[in-house]
Parts: sequence; C-alpha cells; structure tokens
Amino acid sequence: MDAEKDQPNLLITGATVVTLDVERNIISDGAIAIAGDRIAAVGLSDELRQRFPNAEILDARGKAVLPGFINSHTHAVLLVLRGTVEDMSGDAIFGYMTPISFAMNDDERRALARLACLEAIRCGTTTMVEPFRFITGYAAGMAETGMRLWLSENGADALTLKIRHGIYEYDRAFGEEFLDRVRAMVDQFHDTHDGRVKCQMAAHAPDVCSPWMLGELNDLARKHGLTRTIHLAQSPGEVKQVRAAHDRTSAEYLRDNDWLGPDVVAAHWTFCTDDDIDLLAEHGVHMAHCPANSSRRGPHLARVGRIQDAGVNIVLGTDNMTEDMFQALKIGSIIHRGRRGSEQEGGVNPGPQAVLDSATRNAAHALRAEADIGSLEAGKKADLMILDLNQPNLRPIINLVSNIVHYGSSSAVESVMVDGRFVMRDGKVLSMNEDEVIAEAQEATAAAWHRLKETSGDIDLPAGLQRERAQP
Ligand SMILES: [Zn+2]
Repeated sequence: MDAEKDQPNLLITGATVVTLDVERNIISDGAIAIAGDRIAAVGLSDELRQRFPNAEILDARGKAVLPGFINSHTHAVLLVLRGTVEDMSGDAIFGYMTPISFAMNDDERRALARLACLEAIRCGTTTMVEPFRFITGYAAGMAETGMRLWLSENGADALTLKIRHGIYEYDRAFGEEFLDRVRAMVDQFHDTHDGRVKCQMAAHAPDVCSPWMLGELNDLARKHGLTRTIHLAQSPGEVKQVRAAHDRTSAEYLRDNDWLGPDVVAAHWTFCTDDDIDLLAEHGVHMAHCPANSSRRGPHLARVGRIQDAGVNIVLGTDNMTEDMFQALKIGSIIHRGRRGSEQEGGVNPGPQAVLDSATRNAAHALRAEADIGSLEAGKKADLMILDLNQPNLRPIINLVSNIVHYGSSSAVESVMVDGRFVMRDGKVLSMNEDEVIAEAQEATAAAWHRLKETSGDIDLPAGLQRERAQP
C-alpha cells in the first residue's frame, strides 16, 4: 500500500456492508476503501477513516453495499421478444428466438443489448454472461456501458432456422460461419477494456452441435484458455433429437464429446435424469439456473433439490426477456421450495443466503473469477451496488438478506460501480443516455419484427406492433 496509486481515492462509510465473504459477514457502520479499480480495505467506518484520511468520503448511512450481481446466463438481444413469447405456447426457442436473432441487423442487436445493459445496471448487476450469435456486431455497444462482460458466440452446425419445421440438418459450412465469428470475437474482445471484457467458448445446445462442432469449439477453448458454456436438456425437442441422432441423453452426449468439466457452465438441466445429474456433478459442471424465465409458462421442472444435493454449484441467471436479477432471486427462492432436498436454514431450502450466493460468490467461482469478483474483500475488483434501505419494501429490517431476496427491487438500487467506476450514481445512469437507449430499442424492435415477418412468412407480427403500424 506504499505506492501513491494504491492510496484509496474513495471511502464509502456508514453503510451496512454485506460482504458475501466466506463467513458471510455483514458489517454495521461499515466502510469500503477503493483505490482505482480495486477494493483496498473493508472494515469499520471509524477504523478506515483513520487509516485513509485523504480519501473522498461517500456517506452511505441508511444504505447497504453489496457485491454487484453476476447474471450467469442471459441473452441481452432477446429483449426484442419481451411481452410476446412469455404468453404463448409452442417452441419459443426455434419458433421465435432463433429466427429473430438471424433477422435482426447489427444496429438492432446493439440497440437491444444496450437496453439490456441499462436494465441490468438499474437492477444492481455488474457482470453479464452473454452467449448469443453475431456477438461481434454489438459487443462494443455493450462494453461501452461499463459493464463487466463474459461474451460468447453460441456455436451450432445444425441449420437452426429449419428446426421449427421439424428438420434437423447438420451443415459444415453453416458451422464454419459460426467458427469464423468465434475466432473474430476472441481476436477483438477477449481480455480487452482493461480485462473487463472476456470471452467464453459456447456451444448452443447438444441437439444443434454435431461431434465435429463440439470438437472444434473445444480446440478453440483450449487454444485460448477459455471457460465453456452450453444449454443442456432445456427442451423435450432437444432430448428427443439427441436420443434419435446419438442414442444418448444430452449429458451423456456431452461426456462422450469431452464437453463436461469444472470449466463448463450448463444452463437449465430441465430434463436431466438422476443419472445425468450424477454424471454432471461428478465432472464438476456448474448449473446456470434461470428460475424466473424458465417458469414463465409454468413452474420450472428442473430437479433443483436433487441437483443441489449432488453437490453442484448453482448460479443464477435471467435468461431471456429481462435483466432483472431481483426477479431471479425472488422466483429462485420460491419455485423449488417444497420440491428440494435436505432442509436447511430454518426449515426451507433454499434459504435466502444460498440464493444470494448464487447471484454473487458462486457465480464468480463458476467463471473462475473468484479472485476478482463475487464478494466485497480487500484486493478484489470494486464491483458493487449501493442500496437505499429507506424504502418501504425493505423495511422493517430483521434479516436484511431475506428482505433483499424476497422483496428487493430496482427501486432500491441507488448507485452501481464496475471496475472502480460509477456507472450509476445517486439514481442516475452515467455511462449512457437513458432516453436515447430506450427510444433506439423501441425503434429497433419494430423494425426487427417487421423484417422477421417479411423474411419468415409463417411467423405472425404481435398484435401490439400491428396496431402501431395501422395507426401511425
Ligand atoms: Zn439461454
């Protein structure tokens, strides 16, 4: 701490500091000293004020400071579908999500992705894990918002636009196009923006990746030393196709193609068998659990209690159509209670602390980034949110963690810092013009849906957009 640059420039004092450290310490009248992009110290306000008399003081009495949320699985661009597929039946993945992602242009993807970053910041999120497609066209637009990002191009070599017509056809040239985009992404974005932006290797899902594709992605992951991610057993259609093509479950198929390991985060696990769960646990695969999105058409079927009892590290994500991690915490705490395994924390499972861990420290572990993020501790990156506790929905406080998990909302998020920089302070987002972002996303959404309708005659425009066009 001798060097001038290591001297804290900011001291947040008087706060309730929810550290999420190994002992889950919560410090009353606590303080955090920030030096550049790092946390220099965490402790009692009096002590840190004496240690660092020259730092600017941010008086946070009546507020809580938490590590920023880590959204472990999201598709920012799919905000374009908000308010549509949630309320439909049928195959949303290949019926709408995939077709519209291909129909959009780079400007439209960028506009929606920036709206997602705006929503994420307002909800206290500091890290987004974004596997999608055409990522190089909008990654810079996300990075400019100041968010910490793990980006990936969701590789696939099945012709995904044919799947909604019941056809699985694997095509090497189609897969090569993905691989070109994967290489370009790693070249342009991996470990850039002072290390704030990193890349992962992503396979879209077992049904849309042949053994060749999985092998190519593995080679690239090894070459660049990247973690991996994939959707797993997310739909009956996927399970059926993998059985038909390979006579295996999705988890077995990944095992036989060297796609299981402690560097892999797999999303959903909805249709995993008991044997699958044991296999995934044995290989140290992490589960990206998206309870809110997975439950929009009825409670999520994944056997989360069984998965937890198998010792799997569970991390939380929002998946599609929202970036609201408070919603993931809330629904994640409720939806599998009563169907989960051994009882914990006063008779319920999961308890609020376990749910909050899934959005912070457990998520950092899954990204192999626990040395930098996931808790408020000296030496880690200064990624945090400041919550105003004088909000009616957070009072009275008996158990602050329970209040945050069950009743927290974006309205309490007052300030958000990523990498030592405020991206939102005192209720104002600093890293983008909110009005512009919202207007651009609205315009891009209408344009994308109309193009989708023109290019895919079998997909209907949502009624809201039809009315808008009829009444200019
Ligand atoms: Zn997903």
